[in-house]
Amino acid sequence: MTAIGVDVGATTTRIGLIDDAGDTASVSRSPTSPHVTGVELVAAIVGAAARMSGSSPGDTRVPIGIALPGILDPPRRRLLRAVNLPQLEGFPIAADVADQAGSITTCVTDAEAATWGEFSAAEPRPARFAHLRIGTGAACGLVIDGHMPDMAAGRTNHLEVLVVDTSDKARLCRCGRHGCLETVASGAALAQRSVEAGYSGGLDALQAAWQRAEPVAIEVINEARAGLDTALRNLHDHFGLDAICLGGGVVAHLPCLVDAVLADPPRPAGSGSAGRTMSCLPARLGDDAGVIGAALLAASALT
Ligand SMILES: [Zn+2]
Repeated sequence: MTAIGVDVGATTTRIGLIDDAGDTASVSRSPTSPHVTGVELVAAIVGAAARMSGSSPGDTRVPIGIALPGILDPPRRRLLRAVNLPQLEGFPIAADVADQAGSITTCVTDAEAATWGEFSAAEPRPARFAHLRIGTGAACGLVIDGHMPDMAAGRTNHLEVLVVDTSDKARLCRCGRHGCLETVASGAALAQRSVEAGYSGGLDALQAAWQRAEPVAIEVINEARAGLDTALRNLHDHFGLDAICLGGGVVAHLPCLVDAVLADPPRPAGSGSAGRTMSCLPARLGDDAGVIGAALLAASALT
């Protein structure tokens, strides 16, 4: 079944028409205004969905999957918490899109949508799968035996198993804990460490300095890589994973951080002859993972 996927990101909103194989017929990308209102967002989604599906607004009839950045309320219809777009908290986005487009809507978090997209693209599909998406922050989603566990709809990004620094130097995370993966290996954390180390030019400058074997850059990367290793091992040990997929902007722009992990995944505890092994996969869908995953979830909700 054809479906519309919507991925409302903190900086970019993507809307795409996706077929049931997960192939994209078309994806439109536009900047997300930090001041966008719920009314404006709903109008943009309804208009794009009608255009892409070749129908008139109000009679779109194509299922629409909407991925939102934050924590959802228990019925999964509204944002309970959205750090980057707080004005959308509580707004009935899913219900208003359904009413105005004449469609059935499914609402998920951005992490869930990207996880489902990458899971659907994996061949073969792993029985126990996680997607770790490292961009400005770090997002984590799980698929266990073909289903995403409903872990409070958006709180999986700061699971306790993602605490990777328990020393007294651990940095405070925005979730209130100390030492989350996000404080060590996210784009925001690495950009800050990069500036503290005297580099200007963001992650590309850090990658270039690492290639020149500058000790400070190597120290920053080694610390982030150790955190990533710990997170991957913890995720495996806790959930008995078969595969973890790594994606996001940091993964794309900082190969010195992830290439070694992908080539030689950390050995989880108990992974001797009797233990399970885990593979690390590179993400396949890039920035469209959320659009594709949201659309596939919307289509599968009707079957
Ligand atoms: Zn945290």
